[in-house]
Amino acid sequence: MQRILDNIIKDTRKWTIEGQVASYIPELAKGDRDAVGICVTTLDGEEFFAGDYKTKFTIQSISKVITLMVAICDNGKDYVFSKVGMEPTEQPFNSITNLEGHDRNIPLNPMINSGAIAIVSLINGNSPEEKFERILRFMKKITGNDTISVNEEVYKSEKATGDRNRALAYFMKSTGVIEGDVEEVLDVYFRVCSIEVTCRDIARIGAVLANAGVMPWNDERVISREVSRIIKTIMVTCGMYDGSGKYAVHVGIPSKSGVGGGILGAVTRRMGIGVFGPSLDDHGNSIAGLKVLEALSKEFDLSIF
Ligand code: GLU
Repeated sequence: MQRILDNIIKDTRKWTIEGQVASYIPELAKGDRDAVGICVTTLDGEEFFAGDYKTKFTIQSISKVITLMVAICDNGKDYVFSKVGMEPTEQPFNSITNLEGHDRNIPLNPMINSGAIAIVSLINGNSPEEKFERILRFMKKITGNDTISVNEEVYKSEKATGDRNRALAYFMKSTGVIEGDVEEVLDVYFRVCSIEVTCRDIARIGAVLANAGVMPWNDERVISREVSRIIKTIMVTCGMYDGSGKYAVHVGIPSKSGVGGGILGAVTRRMGIGVFGPSLDDHGNSIAGLKVLEALSKEFDLSIF
């Protein structure tokens, strides 16, 4: 495995020049375009690392997996999916056009911005601080990493420029999808997106999903088998933005990407995968990360299809 990962990183690094680091959040534009790293966490407790796996990056949309878990734990799946749908979209992750004119005007799925903002509004807590702390605590638990924290610069940058997310949130307030104070909901959303992780952290989240909701390193269950199955299914259909269909054909691993360059993969009964590469394609997916996952999937026959 180690030799294969080293070779995959070596072979795929050249792809980074084909993409661009995200710049619509100004602080993200400082990312290293050439970086590529990976961590694989197997369910029997082995961990493998290659490339720039030590680099920290903001979790961005991969947090949508975590907030969905917390919201379902707090409210039950039936209530959560009465507020947010389960359907994929061919529109970009921050699209406004999808919010109106179909099924009760609810966001199409929890993996796009509108859906994730609605999901964050469902999380229990008496204040935005308490809501955020609960999500952070869950994140520390599911990664086994007590040192996880927010990148304050990215948070400030995102909050200062997040007008599109504001537009989505205020629209959802007008249709009753979001209740309560919109700016408070957005503040929690921006903070959660700005949490800093490494490949190892997201590989561990993937390993919990791969292990049907049980942390493989201590056998503690964090979500039910059913919730784990639901989330992996939505990752397949919606996790890679409007590139999810092609990704399913080429890679076939339930995955979620973020514009910070991370991709989390969960291979049921086998492994969690965390990939990082901030150079993105037109859909917002790590361009080298896609190649890494495609090569890994082929090498170890990881596609679920
Ligand atoms: N924080 C980012 C945003 O709201 C997340 C986008 C992403 O990673 O897809 O635009």
